[in-house]
Amino acid sequence: MTAVPVSLAGQVGRRIVSLVVSVVILVFIRSLLVSLPVLRNAQPFGGSGVTPAMIVQVVVDTLILAAMLRFGFQLSGTIRAGSQFFPEGGTIWNLFIITLVAAAAQNVYSELGQALLRENFPLYGWVFLVLILLPLACALVLAALKVNAITEAFFRAVHAAARKCPFCAARISAKAKFCEECGQAVVVAGPGA
Ligand SMILES: [Zn+2]
Repeated sequence: MTAVPVSLAGQVGRRIVSLVVSVVILVFIRSLLVSLPVLRNAQPFGGSGVTPAMIVQVVVDTLILAAMLRFGFQLSGTIRAGSQFFPEGGTIWNLFIITLVAAAAQNVYSELGQALLRENFPLYGWVFLVLILLPLACALVLAALKVNAITEAFFRAVHAAARKCPFCAARISAKAKFCEECGQAVVVAGPGA
């Protein structure tokens, strides 16, 4: 018995659904907690502008950022597994994910940062500028160095997407041994085929 492999689109779809579900649950928990009168009416700690509601928001948002990061890194594993011709694609993807999450984190922590850093708040902006631009710059440099491999991977992907079952003409992935539509065994295209 050969297990029919789950298609790349199927794997990505599952991961997206699981990300959306965890984010929705976390956003629901956050709004529930923040709406509690005991938190909503709580005074800031000491002389700082930090309120308990702010802390709850930051903690839950951090969990959301972690879920986004996890989703992104898992997806890069899928990308790596799906394209042996261009393994750097996973690294470039990871760097883009770090950039996106850092950009989102800048929003999440800005209120807390303002309350804690006060007149030193410009420092906050500089730290996040580095956190956002450094991985982005690395991704662009890596992409520039590997532009031929990216072009190659793109055309291979287009070619793979165009592969059709000879029995029922359904679209099948490049490495599929069996048609997902009619179950017929199909010849696997070797390298250079
Ligand atoms: Zn078929």
